Amino acid sequence: MSLLIDIVKNIKGKTTDKVSVDTYNARVSGCYSCPSLLITGNCKICGCFVKDKAKYSGESCPDDKW
Ligand code: SF4
Repeated sequence: MSLLIDIVKNIKGKTTDKVSVDTYNARVSGCYSCPSLLITGNCKICGCFVKDKAKYSGESCPDDKW
């Protein structure tokens, strides 16, 4: 899935730089305790799959939690 997301980000001119494993784990952990996380693994606010979104340094939580 990451390769497809990388391709789309490249087309859009966005960075595909990834965060460290520690940062990724902290982000995902925050999502799993967030009431906006849907059972599908998507964020209710932005609609993204948080496990994918959290990998990218250029992404951020729409509710300023990370
Ligand atoms: S991205 Fe932010 S608002 Fe969305 S589920 Fe994660 S912590 Fe919650």
